[in-house]
Amino acid sequence: MSVAIVGGGIIGLAVGWRLLERGVDVTVFDDGRLGAWHVAAGMLAPSGESAHEQEALARLMAAAGERWPAFARELGVEIGFDVTGTLSLAMTADDLAAADRVWTRHRLARLRPSELREREPALSPRVRAGVYSANEWQVDPRRLVAVLRDRLAGRIVAKRVESLSEVDAGTVVVAAGCGTAGLTGLPVRPVKGQVLRLRGEPGLLRHVLDATVDGRHVYVVPRADGEVVVGATQEERTDSLVTAGGVHDLLRAAIDLVPALAELELAETTVGHRPGTPDNAPLLGRLDGDDRVIVAAGHFRNGVLLAPITADLIAGLVVGDEPDPLLAHFAPGRF
Ligand SMILES: Cc1cc2nc3c(=O)[nH]c(=O)nc-3n(C[C@H](O)[C@H](O)[C@H](O)COP(=O)(O)OP(=O)(O)OC[C@H]3O[C@@H](n4cnc5c(N)ncnc54)[C@H](O)[C@@H]3O)c2cc1C
Repeated sequence: MSVAIVGGGIIGLAVGWRLLERGVDVTVFDDGRLGAWHVAAGMLAPSGESAHEQEALARLMAAAGERWPAFARELGVEIGFDVTGTLSLAMTADDLAAADRVWTRHRLARLRPSELREREPALSPRVRAGVYSANEWQVDPRRLVAVLRDRLAGRIVAKRVESLSEVDAGTVVVAAGCGTAGLTGLPVRPVKGQVLRLRGEPGLLRHVLDATVDGRHVYVVPRADGEVVVGATQEERTDSLVTAGGVHDLLRAAIDLVPALAELELAETTVGHRPGTPDNAPLLGRLDGDDRVIVAAGHFRNGVLLAPITADLIAGLVVGDEPDPLLAHFAPGRF
């Protein structure tokens, strides 16, 4: 069986790897542009915000979270999978009022400021309260892509696919992120996000911090090598401009939260585009009207989290396993 995958981002590579393991002759076409994976922070938040929007998406995200430890074990330590957990934090009384509704819904026990600072001594004394989520982890998406590329060595072709008719294969999996709309006509739209990377000595922070600071949402993701990712804006725009306002807002919130971040090098400012859909849930399954084409796209804010489950579901569909009932909720033709 010959299968072509269009798109060598996190989703296309994860699907390709699983297919290879199942003995499929797979080729991945990638245009070499840096996809959303290059910018993504790599937070793995199975009960994150999007999970409240739809029951089926919540189940998909939870199932994805459960698959992550085994997925990471198979790929090895190079991917930077880290299970220290996440502190969700609120700075002002107003921030706390909003955050508390979410924490109550998740039955998360509030930590006192002293308990928070025991976990993270570098936190600002202005932080009012927070909760600890043991099952919200992180991975480094750039390292993950590098390791997956290694697994698929010799099967990745540098080529931009302009039309699916030029792809000669029995089955074509479209995993082209924001490029999926142009290839299939499906409603995948780019949602801009600006992200900063700071660099310093390792050890300033241990947990992922997910905070509301004077009404602004910011996350801070510390890597073991001293990199600290600060994100992200969310803008309904297609340009790739890093703006003064975007950088200012992110830095202000991050430094208010952890004052010592002001001393770090501002190593990188980047823009990526999340592949959004009308209901913010992914498109997984056969394309209406063309049985040769399977879509794995539209993962919006959670493509890193959803990679292991997407890979399993789509590989199963390609090789003819009994379709998982979950897939019915994410049919590409549902709009
Ligand atoms: C600012 C930001 C922060 C994020 N943070 C997180 C996070 O913390 N956790 C999380 O789970 N998710 C996060 N995401 C979302 C995540 O990055 C995406 O959902 C995920 O990368 C989607 O994977 P993908 O492979 O479908 O698309 P992409 O990662 O965009 O990859 C698509 C690939 O296909 C290639 N391609 C496109 N069109 C063609 C074509 N016609 N021919 C050949 N190749 C083509 C592209 O060059 C690219 O390499 C974030 C995204 C952004 C932008």
